[in-house]
Amino acid sequence: MNECDSQIEYSCTYEPCSRKRKCCECIAYHRSQEELPACYFTQEEERTYDRSIEYFIRCRQNR
Ligand code: SF4
Repeated sequence: MNECDSQIEYSCTYEPCSRKRKCCECIAYHRSQEELPACYFTQEEERTYDRSIEYFIRCRQNR
C-alpha cells in the first residue's frame, strides 16, 4: 500500500514501525489489536507507546 496522502499531522514517534505514514494499515493494525493509533493521543501520551483503549480512557478521565 502506498503512503497515505491525507493531510493529517503525523504524530507517531515509534521509529521501527513499517506502517509509518500508511494510515489505512496503521488503523487496521491497531484495530486488530483492539487499540488506537498514535494520532488519538497527545504527544506525551504517545511516547509511552501504550496504544490500548484502556490507556486512552484513563488519560481522558485524569484530565
Ligand atoms: S501508530 Fe502504530 S501502526 Fe501507526 S505508525 Fe505508529 S506504531 Fe506504527
